[in-house]
Amino acid sequence: MLSESELSRYSRNLLISEIGEKGQEKLKKSTVTMIGAGGLGSPALFYLASAGVGHIKIIDSDMCELSNLQRQILFKTNSVGQPKAWQAASTLKDLNPEIEIISVKKRLTPENAEELLAYSDIVIEGSDNFDTKFLTNDICYFLKIPTIIAGVVRFEGVVMGTRQGDDPCYRCVFESPPPSKSVPHPSDSGVLGSVAGFAGCMQATEAIKFLISQDEDSIFGHVFSFDLLKMDFRKTKITKNSNCPLCGENSTIDENSLKAKANSQSLDFSI
Ligand SMILES: [Zn+2]
Repeated sequence: MLSESELSRYSRNLLISEIGEKGQEKLKKSTVTMIGAGGLGSPALFYLASAGVGHIKIIDSDMCELSNLQRQILFKTNSVGQPKAWQAASTLKDLNPEIEIISVKKRLTPENAEELLAYSDIVIEGSDNFDTKFLTNDICYFLKIPTIIAGVVRFEGVVMGTRQGDDPCYRCVFESPPPSKSVPHPSDSGVLGSVAGFAGCMQATEAIKFLISQDEDSIFGHVFSFDLLKMDFRKTKITKNSNCPLCGENSTIDENSLKAKANSQSLDFSI
């Protein structure tokens, strides 16, 4: 049941026929894990919290830097030098004290990923590196947790959704992490804050749609790519790759091989 203050706080959600009180109660019971509280995580977390997702976990090991503020809207100038996971939790608690925020100041690693991601209804990935995207995809495949993975650079971005086990996974499209420096990166090529915000808002919206069981026409099973400089938008249906090393017929990745990779990766967060 929703309290008087919740009925008031979420009144604009409740007016939407696809949400209503039933959908709002589903959001209240849901757990969303956000990997990275950066350019994607900031807007995604803001809207998940304001929409009333009842349990939100933030995983980010970084400290806030001045150069983050151009796009990471959870932080203010006096956040610089503070842990982003804690600062993000503080901002979100001020925004909505009716929900639970769990902040984890850790890097996601092959050693801790299963423990950190388990029991999530959905995982949103917003790191700036491919190792974390692949690790998220792999662990969530074994945990059977849906994922929404995104990346942005300059004016462009890609968002992909997978109901793990049912839809093509991230490795079906991108088999393995590309060699470093082979693809443009925000720290070299830049990214417009509002472009990261656009992708983060899409991640939050698709997560909310999934949580209220409105995911028939959704990002799942698709790659959505956009170029806001050209105002070009493409939603492409993808198919499972039978040679996928994770979910293909002769998969080479299993839970043991993931654990064996422990200690072999250095992962950084936040776009
Ligand atoms: Zn796959």
